[in-house]
Amino acid sequence: MQIINPATEEIISELQVTSKDELRSVLDSLREGQKAWAQKSIEERLECIIRFGEFIQLNVNELAEILTLETGKPLQQSLNEIKGAQNRVEHLRQNAEKWLAPETLVDSGSTHEKIMYEPLGVIANISAWNFPYNVGYNVFLYALVAGNSVLYKPSEFATLTGKQFEKYLWQAGIPENVFQCVVGDGKLGQQILEADLNGYFFTGSHGTGLHIAKTVAHKLVPVQLELGGKDPLYIMDDVPDVKQAAINAAEGAFYNNGQSCCAVERIYVSEKIHDEFVDAFVTEVKSYKIGDPTSLETFVGPLTRKQQLKVLENQVTDALNKGAILLSGGKEIKGKGYYFEPTVITNCKHEMAVMNEESFGPIIGIQKVSSDSEALRLMSDTEYGLTAAVFSSDEQRALGLLNQLNVGTAYWNCCDRVSPNVPWSGRNNSGLGSTLSTQGIRAFVQPKSYHLRP
Ligand code: NDP
Repeated sequence: MQIINPATEEIISELQVTSKDELRSVLDSLREGQKAWAQKSIEERLECIIRFGEFIQLNVNELAEILTLETGKPLQQSLNEIKGAQNRVEHLRQNAEKWLAPETLVDSGSTHEKIMYEPLGVIANISAWNFPYNVGYNVFLYALVAGNSVLYKPSEFATLTGKQFEKYLWQAGIPENVFQCVVGDGKLGQQILEADLNGYFFTGSHGTGLHIAKTVAHKLVPVQLELGGKDPLYIMDDVPDVKQAAINAAEGAFYNNGQSCCAVERIYVSEKIHDEFVDAFVTEVKSYKIGDPTSLETFVGPLTRKQQLKVLENQVTDALNKGAILLSGGKEIKGKGYYFEPTVITNCKHEMAVMNEESFGPIIGIQKVSSDSEALRLMSDTEYGLTAAVFSSDEQRALGLLNQLNVGTAYWNCCDRVSPNVPWSGRNNSGLGSTLSTQGIRAFVQPKSYHLRP
């Protein structure tokens, strides 16, 4: 499998794809390794995770360079991601023992009752390329602490990073037969679906997620899906500082080149401040430094996948054909690398693809609204349900609207944010189940209830 640098289109590495026979023997060894791993105390397992976190921090520069090289993520954002994702390690250090401890519910009378949390066994973690540290950590760290072994399939666009995870997990004391990173594209993913595993934990697109859920349904094992979104942001007329609101909104839309599951994907602005907001927004976007992702000054690098250029171009054409106005960008930047100009489109309408289909790139549609109820109607009209944000100086007014939205995460005066303290979950086409928080660790265990008559 060739690994291509999206900034230069050069082949940076060639890896041997995991064969069917190798997959079978990897799974046999993971099954064996899991038994001994589950026998270790939570404390012992946690020690390995903490050591892993330390190795990652010690090698942060090298790891960030690899991430930038294979995904095109600007170097500063690669560093941010690696450092930021460490909060999962710390959160587990503080909470894992408490979360996984047996619970005694009744310890008097004739029958005592308690719950023990047992690992699922060998789980598959099929992952995405856009934030490999965040989305990988959300799954495999929690699964390992809970006593599972993990078959990790990174995206073909983040395989070098996946291999680094494996190297440092092993160095940190996780046995080789407890964590294995396999190499391959969707064909290998398909073979994993056909193999015998005790749970499937997926991060990626709605299409692939749905396919996975259908394919493994007959096994009756846990399936968890962290999928895409079309996340709305509504700028109310009472924001205290329109310019600052525009700067924050632009960052939510363009950070990581818009390739975040919870990126701001469509913006609704009150008509009372619309023009002022749009002016400030466009000024901010035009100030972004575009180019070589290895430069620490770069804010917008190349897209990770070449095929997304066409998707974005089609969204621009569709919007302009339906009456939108292009205020910035709008096309691929010719030359080496998969660059697309940061694109701002106004005068948008709900029927435009840029307002109702996941863009996953540096493009944003802005639509003027005349009331909170109009904003609510438009924000709600989607098959996705990952996040939604409202900027306003009035908490009650913002929450009044957010409370009515069918989303896993609601933001007031912030956006594009994930925290280990609260569950991360999507609704409808944005997914099934939760990672992070107590619920995120419970995803990797099965309760066993005891009725005991001493
Ligand atoms: P994809 O669905 O294309 O791929 C995700 C993973 O599935 C990859 O490892 C991919 O392999 C693998 N895969 C592909 N085909 C199959 C198959 N038939 N069987 C099993 N596995 C398969 O998503 P992307 O990697 O492009 O990720 C982008 C998407 O992920 C966006 O929609 C984004 O919103 C979403 N996402 C959601 C998050 C959340 O927390 N809700 C977080 C991050 C991203 P390969 O890449 O090698 O083909």
